[in-house]
Amino acid sequence: MTENYLFPLLQHCCDTLIDHQELADTAWQGGIRCPACRTVHGRCGDAIFPLYYMYTATGNSNYLKSARLLTSYIGSVQQPDGAWLNELAGDWKGTTVFQLLSLCHAYDLLSKNGEQTEADTLKDLIASSALWVSRIFGNGGKTNVNYYLTSAVVLQWASVIVSIPHYAEQARLLIERYGLANMTGDGFLLGEKTNQRPFSRVTSTVDIGYNMDMSLGAMAEYAILTGNEHVKEMTVHALRKHMEMIYPDGSMDNSFGSRNYKWTLFGSKTAHGCQMAFMMLCDEDPAFYKAAELNAAYVKESIGPGGGMFGYGPHYKELFKQSCIHATFNKADAFAVALTYGKEPARKDALIPSQAIFGVREYASLGVHHMRTHQWMGTVSCYHVHNAPTGGTLSYLWNAATGPVQIGSVTKYERYEPYNMPAFPAMEEELTTPRIEAVRQGITYSNLYEYEAYAASSVNEDRPEAEVHGQLKYEADCIQYDCGISYKIRYTFYDSFIEKIYDMDVRLPCEQIRIVEPIVSGANCAALEMGEEINIPSGKGNVIQVSGWGVGFQLDRESLTEQAVSVFPSILAVPLKWRTGPLIPGQYSFRVSIRLDEPGVPTMKGDVKE
Ligand SMILES: [Zn+2]
Repeated sequence: MTENYLFPLLQHCCDTLIDHQELADTAWQGGIRCPACRTVHGRCGDAIFPLYYMYTATGNSNYLKSARLLTSYIGSVQQPDGAWLNELAGDWKGTTVFQLLSLCHAYDLLSKNGEQTEADTLKDLIASSALWVSRIFGNGGKTNVNYYLTSAVVLQWASVIVSIPHYAEQARLLIERYGLANMTGDGFLLGEKTNQRPFSRVTSTVDIGYNMDMSLGAMAEYAILTGNEHVKEMTVHALRKHMEMIYPDGSMDNSFGSRNYKWTLFGSKTAHGCQMAFMMLCDEDPAFYKAAELNAAYVKESIGPGGGMFGYGPHYKELFKQSCIHATFNKADAFAVALTYGKEPARKDALIPSQAIFGVREYASLGVHHMRTHQWMGTVSCYHVHNAPTGGTLSYLWNAATGPVQIGSVTKYERYEPYNMPAFPAMEEELTTPRIEAVRQGITYSNLYEYEAYAASSVNEDRPEAEVHGQLKYEADCIQYDCGISYKIRYTFYDSFIEKIYDMDVRLPCEQIRIVEPIVSGANCAALEMGEEINIPSGKGNVIQVSGWGVGFQLDRESLTEQAVSVFPSILAVPLKWRTGPLIPGQYSFRVSIRLDEPGVPTMKGDVKE
């Protein structure tokens, strides 16, 4: 497996982990120190399996030494009830399932490689933590779906390793109740942050990041371990649908997801990685192999210049001096699982769905539409998750030559998980989500509080189009108030540019309407007004050109030098704004075009630039 594309990436992760392994401080000896969070994250035990994997693959005793030290560390911090704390300063123990999963994989790997004595050193930890998982999650309850599905896999493993048949029965019921029963007809897995205020107002929510990086991998592994064909079939069905959320460059669209507040573009910050699910099932569909490969390339790219750990977006290093090591041990675990339990695909050159120029795709159960032309792909989100881009905004806009052009962020940065979310950088908070805002009687209303927007999409004359309807709203105490302004946004994707037409029907006077179009830029860059167009250097050597026009709207020139910031994903953008003065009731319209300034590409006026 050392020739597999994942191997060098896994090696990079494991070498980075060893570099940060604590050797001196007796309290933390063997743990992996996080330079950004200045702690030892409870989840660092996830790295036991990848370190043992590297040892068996290379014979290098440094990996063995490191794996033993880490095992000894997690032995020293195990709680009397058999669990591990997610953070030493917190009280959440649910993540015990991930350490146990890593231990089970390590046990299996060592046993199969003639290292039974070494494997047996893990058995007490497996037995004690499996007992905790069986007691806390084994009969269900109220938390996120990824815990139940991971519990199913670890209980299946533990039923064999410590010979307790009851665990296998619990595993079977968990898969039925939380995996199979939580699947929508079109293949989305429900249950991530469902019914947990303030994240959602609906009884079932979807998070693409957690589903692909964790839950579907657990279902795939359970199906393989037990030979359950029905679970396998359902997981393949779900994985095919989720795979449509992988953009052509391997980035993962979780712009609308219920845990979008940990969206890193390569996946979810604290989940493992989609390579587990894709590689374990790639003998069922060769596109799974390609999706795993493209996403791994994107993960690799997120290391950025200077090497080290993964950044949570193209501008991570501009926002934070230190990197958090969390994703390094999660990814290491996912890559080692994919290398160990992954299958061989029938072919390695299959395309993933987003590589086809498909026009439009509607995800009716999510209220999400994808639009695709040769140069562009975009996500229109009406998915009603609190604080995630919604109201029919374009939550992700991607260009083949330059990557992300617009990225929706959380509407307000709140550290729901303080240990997993850094403090907002020392910069003014300014959203990166494109939006309409209206000010009436001093209160700002926006489409981002419209949880009941409706969109329809179609392809006309080869051009993908989507039309959104909603009302501008303001939110206080989780109640929405409107201001008598309904809106329509019409998106048209051309081969060389995209267009948005905003129509506002104002029925009560207001002080102002603003159209805000944040454009992902290079670091510390300002936009330049060039005649009718605004030029924004993309940071990738080309220029994004934006034009906006509407009767009564004026460009806010101060916005050309402002900066919008998103932590998840880590993005800097120039928040272009156009404003009106006080408006009387009537109809108002604004048109925005976005294109990439590249030689040979037709301009918006139709002529070809040399
Ligand atoms: Zn950290």
